[in-house]
Amino acid sequence: MKTVLVHPATYDTVRQAIDRTFEIFPLNLTGKTVLIKPNALRTSTADEAIVTHPSVLRAVVEKVETLSPAAIIVGDNPGVVSYGANEECFEKTGLMAAAKGYYRNIGNEPVKAGFNPEFMPWVSVSRIVMEADIIISLPRFKTHGLTVISGAIKNSYGILPGAQKSILHKIAGSPKRFHEVIVEVFKIRVPDLFILDAVVGMEGNGPASPDLRDIGLILAADNAVAMDAVIAAMMGCDPSRLRFLQKAKEEGLGDYDLKTIHIIGKLEKIPNFKLPPMSGEGNLKDQAVQEMLASKNKFRPKVDQTLCTACGTCVAQCPVSALTMMDEFPEVDPDICITCFCCQEMCPEKAIRLS
Ligand code: SF4
Ligand code: SF4
Repeated sequence: MKTVLVHPATYDTVRQAIDRTFEIFPLNLTGKTVLIKPNALRTSTADEAIVTHPSVLRAVVEKVETLSPAAIIVGDNPGVVSYGANEECFEKTGLMAAAKGYYRNIGNEPVKAGFNPEFMPWVSVSRIVMEADIIISLPRFKTHGLTVISGAIKNSYGILPGAQKSILHKIAGSPKRFHEVIVEVFKIRVPDLFILDAVVGMEGNGPASPDLRDIGLILAADNAVAMDAVIAAMMGCDPSRLRFLQKAKEEGLGDYDLKTIHIIGKLEKIPNFKLPPMSGEGNLKDQAVQEMLASKNKFRPKVDQTLCTACGTCVAQCPVSALTMMDEFPEVDPDICITCFCCQEMCPEKAIRLS
């Protein structure tokens, strides 16, 4: 039976909830490399509740510091709207200060990860993610126009750098298939612990809605399906109706049946909680959404020859060998490029532009 902790908290008292989390879900971090992944969806202020609140990140970082890890890394790849603005997003939201010097750009150091060929044969993910001994995922309690809730499973979508997120949105083509895509991404590297910021949650048409709710809770779990089932129930949504939870169960990742989940604390439905439309169809067909995805998908990396020093870093690091040196400068093969934009992230001269 999987366990979900539901613990009262404010941003001033969050450390008590984090201490309790590590009592219930003890992790041996001695000598380990620990990646802490908040939800840094886009550049915003902490009060907008679009990202994990910096107080929660800071409390987790300070707790992990006491457990003798070999290294701590904090990072995320912002979503489609803020692609490439990793540092700006962390600075503006306050997550950079909360990371206490452990921030690293997980859009860098790409490696190829096998994927479901129904969607793409592989994707690019940072070596930092793939080689972390322990991953602690810090989602936020939010709704989502396509997946209804944005919780533990959806938070892993941020391990994808660059335009891969929008490409997969497009390849999925329907909300049902997009639910399946997020489980495929989650499976690449299942995190070891989930700590959800539900001190202030989001309702309405998330994940960047202005409708906020004071909930006053931190949730924690070592299983994402169990945590997302509890989030759904709190929002007044039957977890068995969510395709991504059905798919995760089919894949043996956990069970959303609340009878199989041991809940420490009180699971209470939030009264009159505003959910987005259950099908998500309206959002996917929304013309503005389609135009935004299309605008992100058409970009390809292009080298500015006035800045390029021909160091070869981008060619060596491209996870799918889409770059070759031609007449001393790198050129991209658009048929091979998977638009991870890692070359742009890692170019020391900032010589790669998207056009
Ligand atoms: S990494 Fe930048 S400077 Fe180096 S070859 Fe590539 S584009 Fe040129
Ligand atoms: S050339 Fe394309 S696939 Fe290669 S690193 Fe750049 S964006 Fe990624």
